[in-house]
Amino acid sequence: MTKAENKVRNIGIKVNPPKGTCNDVNCPFHGRLKVRGRIFEGVVVSDRAKKTVIVQWEYYHYIPKYERYERRKTKIAAHNPPCIDAKKGDLVRIAECRPLSKTKSFVVIEKVER
Ligand SMILES: [Zn+2]
Repeated sequence: MTKAENKVRNIGIKVNPPKGTCNDVNCPFHGRLKVRGRIFEGVVVSDRAKKTVIVQWEYYHYIPKYERYERRKTKIAAHNPPCIDAKKGDLVRIAECRPLSKTKSFVVIEKVER
């Protein structure tokens, strides 16, 4: 790892940069990955895949006919850089990036304290 890669990059979003370091090219802080687009917050429901987490969050969707809300949920696969290393149950913030694989186009940018 060179000195330049060791430095934390500014990703353009106000977050607490990770304390650890890594040499993952797909890390927005230590690699070359750029983030742009949408940002979401959710809970990690699976950390079984290598460098990938499944993030889920719930929202309410209004049904006019019944004048009630139904609960819906979204599940998104996100890249989990080694310096952040989110575990199952963690509340994380994810940001959109270029497609990293067939199903991944988000990256974990921060663990949210709660
Ligand atoms: Zn990193």
